[in-house]
Amino acid sequence: MELALFGGGPIREEILPYARQYIDDRDLDAVNEVLKSDFLTTGPKAKEFEEEIAEYVGAKYAVTFSNGTAALHGACYAAGVGEGDEVITTPITFASSANCALFMGATPVFADINKDNFNIDVKEIKEKITAKTKAIIPVDYTGQAVDIDGIKELIEGTDIVIIEDSAHALGTEYKGKKVGGLADMTMFSFHPVKTITTGEGGVITTNNEEYYKKLVNFRSHCITRDIEQLQDKDNGGWYYEQQDLGFNYRMTEIQAALGISQLNKLEGFINKRKEIVNKYNKAFGNLEGLILHKNEQYSDTANHLYVLKLDLKKLKTDRKEIYNALIAENIGVNVHYIPVYWHPYYQKLGYKKGLCPKAEELYNAIITIPLFPAMTDKDVTDVIKSVNKIIYYFRK
Ligand SMILES: *Cc1c(COP(=O)(O)O)cnc(C)c1O
Repeated sequence: MELALFGGGPIREEILPYARQYIDDRDLDAVNEVLKSDFLTTGPKAKEFEEEIAEYVGAKYAVTFSNGTAALHGACYAAGVGEGDEVITTPITFASSANCALFMGATPVFADINKDNFNIDVKEIKEKITAKTKAIIPVDYTGQAVDIDGIKELIEGTDIVIIEDSAHALGTEYKGKKVGGLADMTMFSFHPVKTITTGEGGVITTNNEEYYKKLVNFRSHCITRDIEQLQDKDNGGWYYEQQDLGFNYRMTEIQAALGISQLNKLEGFINKRKEIVNKYNKAFGNLEGLILHKNEQYSDTANHLYVLKLDLKKLKTDRKEIYNALIAENIGVNVHYIPVYWHPYYQKLGYKKGLCPKAEELYNAIITIPLFPAMTDKDVTDVIKSVNKIIYYFRK
């Protein structure tokens, strides 16, 4: 991008990332303490973190995993997803939401989005349900809750399992209830860009005891020592059985200790995110050249991403040039997401471009701008100034 185009230098001296973790001394102390303890993995901290997460979201059980993708894999296993099954998800998501079906030998099926709220569209899901549908994995994109009641209504009387991918939505409420206890299983991720972090990490929350037991087994090789579960109960104290094919997907005590400490800060994080989002909404809500997604009444959103949709009919350029112009201003922008089935791997599997036209239209027009709790007022102002400057410049 020609900086001279705009005159002067970039609005910021140094790049502002689009997302960043917030770690303070209490987090450091918590991790330090666990490093000096007897357990580095599979100990009391993971259990404590699970209890706290379950209580926070209002679910009976929580099972931690080494990362969110592993957690989705576990959820598909617990749901009994397998060869010949179809799993419906949105194309506007991180690849894991669909890959987890492939991990189990099933086929991801993409349902198009709602063009106003950008989430998977309940009507589009309906079109894609077949006798082979085993699970639906809706994603709370940017943190906004999907219409889970609408999806539940669709599948009433079937044994289709709903696995909510809430990687963006820890703390989001749907009709006054926290996301996490509403679907059959719900996944949260603790990757550093997400609402709270454990470095890498993830969790499944559920109210279903059978899923809970399967998840616990799956994340540890499907090996059990539980006397109730053993097929041969007459062995010694050393005895254990591997009863199915599982993985080593356990969360370490180091991760869990960080998670507990981060969870204490969650409300503060969410409030700060809301504050920034309010400023952005005020600045961009009526800016010609931009379109914001619709905030559905049913979602009180713990905002993870702030996505600008360019109104390309009103601009004399495309997303790439605006993206580059913002980078030239040192605003760390990003794009969430490339439609999953556009990736070469999915193309090789036979998915065709054009499958979900609304998702593709959205992809061509979106840019994610910085949003994280440690942003200063100046950071927020810099983003607003840069976006304004560039939209004005490129407006028809
Ligand atoms: C981050 C993310 C995941 C995967 O989580 P990891 O912890 O990075 O494995 C899955 N789905 C969505 C929508 C995500 O944003």
